[in-house]
Amino acid sequence: MTRPTGQGAADVAREIAPDVFCLGPWGRTQTVVYFVRSGSSWVLIDAGWASDLSQIERAAGALFGADSRPAAILLTHCHPDHAGSARQLALAWGCAVYMHPDELPLATADFAAMVASAGPLDRFLILPLMRVMGRRRREAVLARSSLGDVARVFEPGAGVPGLPGWEWVPTPGHTPGHVSYFRPGDRVLITGDALVTLQVNSWAGLLLQRPGLSGPPWYTTWSPRAARESIGRLARLEPTVLAGGHGRPMTGAGTAEALSAYARSSADQ
Ligand SMILES: [Zn+2]
Repeated sequence: MTRPTGQGAADVAREIAPDVFCLGPWGRTQTVVYFVRSGSSWVLIDAGWASDLSQIERAAGALFGADSRPAAILLTHCHPDHAGSARQLALAWGCAVYMHPDELPLATADFAAMVASAGPLDRFLILPLMRVMGRRRREAVLARSSLGDVARVFEPGAGVPGLPGWEWVPTPGHTPGHVSYFRPGDRVLITGDALVTLQVNSWAGLLLQRPGLSGPPWYTTWSPRAARESIGRLARLEPTVLAGGHGRPMTGAGTAEALSAYARSSADQ
């Protein structure tokens, strides 16, 4: 049987820039997570779906040793395809899960926050279903996806936990507290869903897993306008490596130019 491209390689993380390792893309959503080494320690950036737990643990063990524990788990945002395994990994590794303060209400599965940051899919499908459930059942369902007491927020002015030499860049739009992670020294950029390298906004692109720059999936995006502004902000960073939350990272000459051309065209929309 032939496997779809990328699926077979998903157990081994590959180095896409010094000390930056990419695991994925894998599965129907072409999910990608990143391991970043810093001196003798490391962090995980984004944590896939809940079902990706053992795959991420195996890859971490292969990279850093079976008993190695990260300094932190960092999230770009708190959707189930990025934070799905975060709580279980944090408990197994004894570390915290960091995010932007504006993302915390989503991380703690607050129903009012879900309503306030809802994208079209939430508004037309998920939220009505959750309302029908009634409060008690809804709270039980939400509690299962909550990061609870492992969730932490960035300290103002304190930089990225566990990653000296990196910055977090506010990239709201997909969610209110979405951030990207940037290493100015060599302009490596990890963008979560603020910018992806898979055509998630066309059915054909998604079904055929076509590569290509894209803004966040519109059906799960809170503010399309803020998302477009965030793409402009990312383009101005002129990245040499562009590593999103879905699809194969872009590297090499031409990355910054491709992004600025894309940002110009999406600003016109
Ligand atoms: Zn995503």
